[in-house]
Amino acid sequence: MPSLEHFPWIGGKFLGVEWSVWKAVGWLGNGIFFSRFIVQWFATEKRKQVVVPALFWWLSIAGSLVLLAYAVFYKRDSVFIFAYAFTWIPYIRNLMIHHRHERALQNCAQCGFLSPPSAGYCSQCGAKLAEAEQPAPSAR
Ligand SMILES: [Zn+2]
Repeated sequence: MPSLEHFPWIGGKFLGVEWSVWKAVGWLGNGIFFSRFIVQWFATEKRKQVVVPALFWWLSIAGSLVLLAYAVFYKRDSVFIFAYAFTWIPYIRNLMIHHRHERALQNCAQCGFLSPPSAGYCSQCGAKLAEAEQPAPSAR
């Protein structure tokens, strides 16, 4: 077992790692990918309910693309490449759904609070929200 006497220098290397540009890229990808858990946890604790903010999906895309670059251009490992080759698809889809939902939120005329598209009343002040737009009657 290596000595931790000169930590973080282990065996003459920072954290005992053989550093290169690609090793730094890989750790950057790990850092971005890991940070999404902190973002999601913080958002959930703040709202006291499970929340997945848009930033979580942006960090997922960024982290997985950096790790995919690391896998393709440095590791050249098919298992590692496959692990990150397709993860961006659900991340982008979740962002599309998130933004569609954000656009559909109803803005309360009384207090400005944003309510879900299906809400009839503002959950902040209780004011009746505008009726959902009815389709125009067809001209005959
Ligand atoms: Zn309101």
